Amino acid sequence: MKRILVLALVLLFSGCAYVNPLIQDFNIISVEEEKAIGDQVTAEIQKEMTIVSDSALTARIRNIGEALEAALPPHAFNYQFYVVENKTPNAFSVPGGSIYVHTGLLNFVDDENQLAGVLAHEIGHEYQRHPAKSLSRAYGLEQLSSMLFKNSKSQNQIRSIALQLAGGGVLSRYSRIDELEADSIGFQLLRRSGMRVDGLKRFLIKLNNLYGSGGSIPLMSSHPPTAERITRLDMMERNGGQMLQTP
Ligand SMILES: [Zn+2]
Repeated sequence: MKRILVLALVLLFSGCAYVNPLIQDFNIISVEEEKAIGDQVTAEIQKEMTIVSDSALTARIRNIGEALEAALPPHAFNYQFYVVENKTPNAFSVPGGSIYVHTGLLNFVDDENQLAGVLAHEIGHEYQRHPAKSLSRAYGLEQLSSMLFKNSKSQNQIRSIALQLAGGGVLSRYSRIDELEADSIGFQLLRRSGMRVDGLKRFLIKLNNLYGSGGSIPLMSSHPPTAERITRLDMMERNGGQMLQTP
């Protein structure tokens, strides 16, 4: 299965053919269900967190995010980009296509290319539907289906999902393979949209220097170690943008 996925990604990004690499069998919820749950989670996050309305800040991430999104083949959702008040240099993705960037991240990055690198990585997660995969693993089909019926129990579950995603809880942490996939897709998006491809790598180096590998920030969760991600991104750059096989 992994080989098939990698092949699909290589074909996809080499422009030979459109192959939808979504691994549906990992996701037990449909695109429509993901959207419905994602809308509820997004509404809850917007109640719990302070969404920045400053139009210059919002435009800063939307312009980059939309340029990256335009470099993707057809995809399940239209992505939405938000800035939230939080000092930690982090970003996270919600099922259904909403991507949140902390104000702390905007202050942390050295330049727009690093910001683009992080956004490209998060788009990689959304494109592969990793947030829904994470929910599928944590809750199972029955519980997820019951969340579609709005009652007090499902509201509590949605609230708990929102808090976990926003607070760096277990739902916002992905597997090693998912992280490497998001990096690979992110790298390709930077390349295809004509942006500098080293933004994500330079961002990770800065984060690693400051916090050390395996810190508590989900963007650099210990699986895989940040050093491994930096090495892989560097190899892709040296290979002229060739995708690496995900181990
Ligand atoms: Zn990630």
